[in-house]
Amino acid sequence: MFENLSERLSGVFERLTKQGALSDTDVATALREVRVALLEADVSLPVARDFVRRVQDKATGQAVTKSVTPGQQVVKIVHDELVHVLAGDTDPGRLKIDNPPAPILMVGLQGSGKTTTTAKLARRLTEREGKRVLMASLDTNRPAAMEQLAILGNQIGVDTLPIVKGESAVQIARRAKTQASLGGYDVYLLDTAGRLHIDEVLMNEVQAVRDVANPRETLLVVDGLTGQDAVNVAAEFDGKVGITGVVLTRMDGDGRGGAALSMRAVTGKPIRFVGLGEKTDSLEVFEPERIAGRILGMGDIVALVEKAQQTFEAEQAERMMKRFQKGLFNMNDLRMQLEQMLKMGGMQGLMGMMPGAGKMAKAAEQAGIDDRMLRRQIALINSMTKKERSNPDILQASRKKRIAAGAGLDVADLNRLLKQHKQMADMMKKLGKGGMMKQAIRQMM
Ligand code: GDP
Repeated sequence: MFENLSERLSGVFERLTKQGALSDTDVATALREVRVALLEADVSLPVARDFVRRVQDKATGQAVTKSVTPGQQVVKIVHDELVHVLAGDTDPGRLKIDNPPAPILMVGLQGSGKTTTTAKLARRLTEREGKRVLMASLDTNRPAAMEQLAILGNQIGVDTLPIVKGESAVQIARRAKTQASLGGYDVYLLDTAGRLHIDEVLMNEVQAVRDVANPRETLLVVDGLTGQDAVNVAAEFDGKVGITGVVLTRMDGDGRGGAALSMRAVTGKPIRFVGLGEKTDSLEVFEPERIAGRILGMGDIVALVEKAQQTFEAEQAERMMKRFQKGLFNMNDLRMQLEQMLKMGGMQGLMGMMPGAGKMAKAAEQAGIDDRMLRRQIALINSMTKKERSNPDILQASRKKRIAAGAGLDVADLNRLLKQHKQMADMMKKLGKGGMMKQAIRQMM
């Protein structure tokens, strides 16, 4: 999977990483090519656009890390964005199947690979997690589909609910539930009927089954080869029955991969597994890190930049600590702190970074300081000259006006920032003088 996209992107980045210095135009050209590559891989336009914009934002705001080239840094940013666009909040492979017997509802269109995937999942749960699994086919319209599940069950040594002619899907679901309880099964998989297209009758039936079974997971099986259609189907099913994840099948084919890249961004639902063949053992957990690595094919560069960034951050932190020990704290220090806080997800970050800052962090939280506020403060500092940053005491009315205007904010905003800086600087001075900072730092280590 992703061969074409991977080829296209590695072409773009090979050229980029070879260059020593990068101009804005170089980056812009590369990103334009990335965008085209994504669109050709059938990634939806808004997702591709958003992707490129995020990379651009990060690339421009990035601190220059020693020992890697700018091109390598861009590769890392693209990698991280790929992970971001692929990843859901859930751990894809971990299904909610405690509290036996746990029902899992399998839904999807006919021909998507639903029955095969049900068997694949049953096999995985049995072999890898040692679960006792029961499978039931609810496809009352197609006796052949029921037979197919029974045959697969036989092959993989997983029990299937005996077929009783004339029962409705809801009746079968009830029987499966009873059988799963009585038989001491950990999990039971309900393979619902598919149709060729989404229609009301199908959705009503799936909803009725859902209400009876009360599933812990509802997995939508979609054909990865259908590209954006797969994403649309997922959005429809989610709206009508509510899904907890997606299984993309036929990812062994030469599909363009766009469905995988757009799924989470468009539907908000994570891809949990991918089907990589017709056999019952070809189901893989969808791992964003690995997939991103596979798409970019530049694992070495990503690792290199990660290491360089860690070194860089460690050096920066050490430099800052040395300044704190001397009781020094100028606008550059404040900016570094604000950036760190943004990265660490808000005010909480500050508490860990600095002794004595806990109180201030709490106050800021109460005052409703958020990421936007942090970004504004950073913009204000960026709008200062080098001299002003190292010595904010020189800021008089005209300078203040210029700085505030440069950041698109008011002088009042700047005054608030200056006040905050002063409080922190005073505290640093006090701590630094008494040798308390050293003590505090030692305690933190
Ligand atoms: P259902 O109608 O949704 O239940 O679909 P089936 O499970 O019967 O699958 C339809 C066809 O797709 C069968 O021939 C399967 O072997 C095939 N299939 C299912 N999953 C995959 C997959 O991940 N890769 C490939 N290559 N074929 C698959």
